[in-house]
Amino acid sequence: MFPGPLGLSLAGRALERGLWSLAAVDIRRFARDRHGTVDDTPFGGGAGMVMRPDILSDAIAAVQAPGRPTIYFSPRGRPFDQARARALAAGPGVTLVCGRFEGIDERVIEAHGLEEVSVGDVVLSGGEIAALVALDACVRLLPGVVGAAASLTEESFEEGLLEYPLYTRPATWTGPDGVERAVPEILQTGHHAKIAAWRRAKAEEITRQRRPDLWARHVAARRGD
Ligand code: SAH
Repeated sequence: MFPGPLGLSLAGRALERGLWSLAAVDIRRFARDRHGTVDDTPFGGGAGMVMRPDILSDAIAAVQAPGRPTIYFSPRGRPFDQARARALAAGPGVTLVCGRFEGIDERVIEAHGLEEVSVGDVVLSGGEIAALVALDACVRLLPGVVGAAASLTEESFEEGLLEYPLYTRPATWTGPDGVERAVPEILQTGHHAKIAAWRRAKAEEITRQRRPDLWARHVAARRGD
């Protein structure tokens, strides 16, 4: 699973250049039996298996470092967002705990002060893909990973807004529906201030329509609440 897709492309080249690093730890290594058992049936009954606190705790203790946050990926967690990605990217590193089966024993969360983080209102079969999502979001923010720094500051969420529409050549294009579509004229004028204003207006319109939650926060931030 690791580095998986993060071993390729942008993140992969950065990994090779030593701009970031990752140590994957197999929790089974801390099992107490020959079979590498890490889970057991849930107290109280019900379907599925639960990861044992003693084994998982040993695995976490082996990698947890002072001053470094420890995140447990979970659908119950606080939604992961760009602000959190920025904070993690600026920090000393992070320990990421990936659950499997029905999840992990609640006592490990308490004992290690694990911070629960979700990557969306969906249920994944394991925390590894959630970890890849979070890592990718952080790695591309590290200095030197993405070529032009400006391409990072104009993106969705960076100002609490979704991105404006993008266009490239050809300037007119006929789609499979037979309709000829032209690129908005303003973008072809070279008038930078007007283009910026148009993009800003589009970003606001799209955010207002699609994400009332983000829009409300953006308006509040603008008012200085
Ligand atoms: N029984 C749990 C789901 C377990 S899914 C529940 O109902 O909430 C198995 C593992 O996948 C979890 O331990 C967690 O680490 C990971 N996972 C699943 N969905 C996730 C999500 N939306 N965000 C982050 N991690 C998730």
